[in-house]
Amino acid sequence: MTTPFDDDHLREECGIFGISRHADAARHVALGLHALQHRGQEAAGIVSFDGARFQAHRAMGHVAEAFESDKVMADLAGYAAIGHVRYATFGATVLRNVQPLFADLSFGGFAIAHNGNLTNAMALRRRLVKAGCIFQSTSDTEVILHLVATSTKNDVVDRLIDALKQIEGAYSLVALTDSMMMGMRDPLGVRPLVMGKLADDTIVFASETCALDINGAEFIRDVEPGEIVIVSDDGIASLKPFATPKPRFCIFEHIYFARPDSVVEGRSVYDVRKHIGAELARESGIEADVIIPVPDSGVPAAIGFAAEARIPFELGIIRNHYVGRTFIEPTQQIRNLGVKLKHNANRPQIEGKRVVLVDDSIVRGTTSLKIVQMVRDAGAREVHMRIASPPTTHSCFYGVDTPERSQLLAATHDIEGMRKFIQADSLAFISMDGLYRAMGEAGRNAAQPQFCDACFTGDYPISLTDHWGGDEDQSRPHRVKAAG
Ligand code: AMP
Repeated sequence: MTTPFDDDHLREECGIFGISRHADAARHVALGLHALQHRGQEAAGIVSFDGARFQAHRAMGHVAEAFESDKVMADLAGYAAIGHVRYATFGATVLRNVQPLFADLSFGGFAIAHNGNLTNAMALRRRLVKAGCIFQSTSDTEVILHLVATSTKNDVVDRLIDALKQIEGAYSLVALTDSMMMGMRDPLGVRPLVMGKLADDTIVFASETCALDINGAEFIRDVEPGEIVIVSDDGIASLKPFATPKPRFCIFEHIYFARPDSVVEGRSVYDVRKHIGAELARESGIEADVIIPVPDSGVPAAIGFAAEARIPFELGIIRNHYVGRTFIEPTQQIRNLGVKLKHNANRPQIEGKRVVLVDDSIVRGTTSLKIVQMVRDAGAREVHMRIASPPTTHSCFYGVDTPERSQLLAATHDIEGMRKFIQADSLAFISMDGLYRAMGEAGRNAAQPQFCDACFTGDYPISLTDHWGGDEDQSRPHRVKAAG
């Protein structure tokens, strides 16, 4: 089925940041985006407001290059700004899709930056196009812009609420008008968003606390699921216009996506990953000489594993941090070198040893296959793979980039089949209850799971209207609409 969104396949990982009522707003946003670079490396953008005019700069590539020019930063002068980093792995990423999106609406300028994915964007877009809306991009976020633009409510906040009540999916948003900045999360709070303040009490919003730290901002609190926080001349206001079911924060943020120095929903990402490693060691420990992380994402779990198993931890694989995504692509022969561009075996730590490799997840399995081979080539006697998440059996539709189901190794293979595929001597994943224990829970509450874990269970907490090929009026099980 061709859709208007085919060129980005609705697969985006993103980071957002916002600040208002502060001189040099855009420079703070650039710093924040720099700290959020892990959430999206393909493009970055900032929209600022100086009291009279909105300015925008959007560019492909990393934040440091996109905003290195003094002229670009000078043009973004103003006391309020929001920004976005974006990562879309599929198809052509065109500049018109790069956020924040901006439009001049009847009430004035409106800029918006989105982390997450709407699951009924296509259905809404069809309706809006029929009604005469002209879309500029293929981004699902533009649907929100048109819903705000065409709302019959008067006030901008009411228009926004009107829009949010029609969208389904996962969203953390920051928005900017000529009189206010807003930060908000979807009713289940799938994606993160925190609030902090600078020393002079200026409010900032950020996807993760690491973006507060870089700005010297103090953490205030998480924006709550279903909450809209408004920062204006009148101070800070909080609205809760939606029925908020029990939150379902994305558990994969803790496993892989968030930076380990961030505190997400009250939990240190680093600590959670270490706890996962310790649980994994208890569940599937094995006699070995050395625990080696697959860098960088496997490092905290491997530390936890090694401490629990009382086996030495060594950096047996070294990662080259300077590999660009498109570095040396031209020939197939070079491409076949694959992972060696990124990782190299540290032979003296491996030779003659029984090695346990710890990684955060197996998606297609190609990384594990190459890493296991590399460790064997470096002289390992045995290679055991331990994975700090349950098998990834389902795609994410809520803003984490995962390939379609047929390409997920765990969707088509059992554990033994996966072990054979990656050619390890043994393979084990953390159990679902083990993962929940590492999160400080007694286990997974099957009747009312504490997190969104759809990538491991297929239990999708928000309607997948577009994916199911449905219309927006269709009712489905698990339908959670932003209902008022
Ligand atoms: P694969 O080769 O497809 O099995 O990829 C597994 C590796 O990709 C793991 O080492 C993870 O650290 C990493 N990974 C897992 N999920 C994602 C994601 N959504 N985006 C980018 N990398 C990921």
